[in-house]
Amino acid sequence: MVKKERGPGLSTLAVHGGGTDRETDAPVATALHQSVNFIQEISSAEGMRYPRYGNGPNAEVVQRRLAALEGAEGALVLSSGMGATACGLLALLRPGDHLLASSWLYGGTRRLLTEEFATIGIDVTLVDPMESRGWRKRMRKQTRAIFLESPVNPSCRVVDLRPISYLTHESGLALVVDSTFASPVNLRPIEHGADVVIQSATKYLNGHHDVLGGVVYGTAPYIEEVRQKMMVWGQAPDPFACWLLERGLKTLDVRVRRQNDNAMRVARWCADRKEVRRVHYPGLTDHPDHEAARAILDGFGGMLGIELSGGAKMADRFLRRLRIFRHAPSLGGVDSLVSEPRYTSHTHLTSEERARLGVPDGFLRLSIGIEDADDLIADLEQALR
Ligand SMILES: *Cc1c(COP(=O)(O)O)cnc(C)c1O
Repeated sequence: MVKKERGPGLSTLAVHGGGTDRETDAPVATALHQSVNFIQEISSAEGMRYPRYGNGPNAEVVQRRLAALEGAEGALVLSSGMGATACGLLALLRPGDHLLASSWLYGGTRRLLTEEFATIGIDVTLVDPMESRGWRKRMRKQTRAIFLESPVNPSCRVVDLRPISYLTHESGLALVVDSTFASPVNLRPIEHGADVVIQSATKYLNGHHDVLGGVVYGTAPYIEEVRQKMMVWGQAPDPFACWLLERGLKTLDVRVRRQNDNAMRVARWCADRKEVRRVHYPGLTDHPDHEAARAILDGFGGMLGIELSGGAKMADRFLRRLRIFRHAPSLGGVDSLVSEPRYTSHTHLTSEERARLGVPDGFLRLSIGIEDADDLIADLEQALR
């Protein structure tokens, strides 16, 4: 599963990617430039800096770091994952264009595509990503791109990018992948034929539950188009958010590897418990996407789903008894969290619609942190008892 690549490894890139200062007296920690104004050269529009333009000093440092980690020509940091998805797609699509999107999407993304895009004349068709030839059958003359999430929030299904990128290359479409759940440690979609990558930096990239942000990756000319959208739609991040994100990134590789290991141990433990009816973790050999996960992922991730044998009724009592895991909606940070998608990202769907997306009522989503796996398991055990 480990890919051989030339150049520095991900841990080195996480600390130094994009270049770090080496001059005498330069600070080792990047200086925070908490300023929205920078002195401008007289009689020139060249190089005007303004944080909303995505060219503040802290934004530029973290953008270079992220591009190096993802193996992309360029990266742009935006004010949220949703901001990244919106501006990333607005830079790609025009009124009259058609977008094919996976029906397995983060709740906010689904609303953006199905409710907002219709009002600006962008037609979206949702496709079951596991239906064979489903994408091809729904392609039209106006289709410009395919958008999907892999691994999928919250079901932890893994959509294999390889056959889809074959189709997009053959048909001249752009393949856009939201790989928030994996981070570049576990999946680098460009290596599997994606053209554009989107991530919520709020999750693994920052990893400490204290920054809201998003990233779009792609070719330099495309990133410039996204930057133009960000400037006028106003989705730029604050300098301090960029600084925190850059600091968080330094430990990305060690954090995510620990989370991968912890999640695998928790998943195996849960699979042996009679109080747990089902475990959704792509690292388990009986997971429906285990083979695809082995082929495209470098690690199976820190996210897993469980269904308790007592169903939704038992979930409430279980959540109240947990002592380390806390009940909170986000994911990907150093603290272990648990959430119920029916009350968070998927609250606007009916029970039947959720079940069809692989998230039946009673489904609990665990975001595994960097605590000791033995303590996490002991916490789950005492709460199940
Ligand atoms: C959280 C999330 C988003 C949205 O990110 P925000 O930073 O909350 O705007 C998009 N996609 C996925 C897969 C997510 O988990």
